[in-house]
Amino acid sequence: MWENRVHVSIKRDDLIHPYIQGNKWRKLKYNLLKAKELGLKRLVTFGGAFSNHIHATAAVGQLFAFETIGIIRGERSDKGSPTLAFAEAAGMQITFLNRTDYRHRKDPDFLASIARKYPDAYIIPEGGSNALALKGVAEIITETDTQWADRPPLTWCAAVGSGGTLAGLIRAAGAHDQVLGFSALKGDFVDDMVAGFLDQAYTNWQIKKDVHWGGFAKWKPELIQFINDFYERTRIPLDPIYNGKLWYGLNQLILDGYFPKGSHVMVIHSGGLQGVNGFRHRFGSTLLPNWSFEDQESTF
Ligand SMILES: *Cc1c(COP(=O)(O)O)cnc(C)c1O
Repeated sequence: MWENRVHVSIKRDDLIHPYIQGNKWRKLKYNLLKAKELGLKRLVTFGGAFSNHIHATAAVGQLFAFETIGIIRGERSDKGSPTLAFAEAAGMQITFLNRTDYRHRKDPDFLASIARKYPDAYIIPEGGSNALALKGVAEIITETDTQWADRPPLTWCAAVGSGGTLAGLIRAAGAHDQVLGFSALKGDFVDDMVAGFLDQAYTNWQIKKDVHWGGFAKWKPELIQFINDFYERTRIPLDPIYNGKLWYGLNQLILDGYFPKGSHVMVIHSGGLQGVNGFRHRFGSTLLPNWSFEDQESTF
């Protein structure tokens, strides 16, 4: 009977830490060790006003005694952002950069000017994606290998934003594994973005690019309904920016018979639940339960 089904497992990286969840921890880990090795006590990074990476960087700064500086795209909104409020409470210094200048965030000249402005800082790119991030992401796979002896070939599924997570999975996947990305962004450029992190051409991956619901952070009531139903059935919370869209898309693929019968799918729960707070803030607090931890009593 089971041979006729698709097996779906979930790697609960959302449970790594209440504030430093999922792939954001995986990507920061070796960068923090590098900063420490270099004797640098400040972290400078980039992101949007609701960014999971900004949130996680602020939290690691407080936990591991780094000074943190967040360069945020755009202007401070009158409506505020729970993410930035959290980051500032955790001690992050927030500065805003207009959207035109923000586009240069990857240019060497721009990065040199940031390095001059913040001497002795370790600069982490937007989303935390760089070579050391890929090394941390690879541990998702080595960890699974130790947790699941003689595992079958897996199709690793992960949401795609800046592309570092998918690239890390592609590089570390087993010889018979496949990697399937679900893009949270609209556009075909995501393939090149992921390939840009890879040192050679791999053939074990592809990205679903029709699962974005109109673009980054765009949504429709059916998506919210799906996330709420998913929670009712599984007690697993999904954020609406990345993991909700991944699971909706994955469910559709399974119903369409995309996966051969008997195949094994491993979904990375990349966390991002702090984003639910921002989503409720922007679009309505009754749409989703508050699964983030900011409103709860904490010793943080
Ligand atoms: C950042 C993020 C992603 C995307 O990861 P990338 O490495 O940027 O592609 C996916 N899910 C969540 C919850 C994230 O915070």
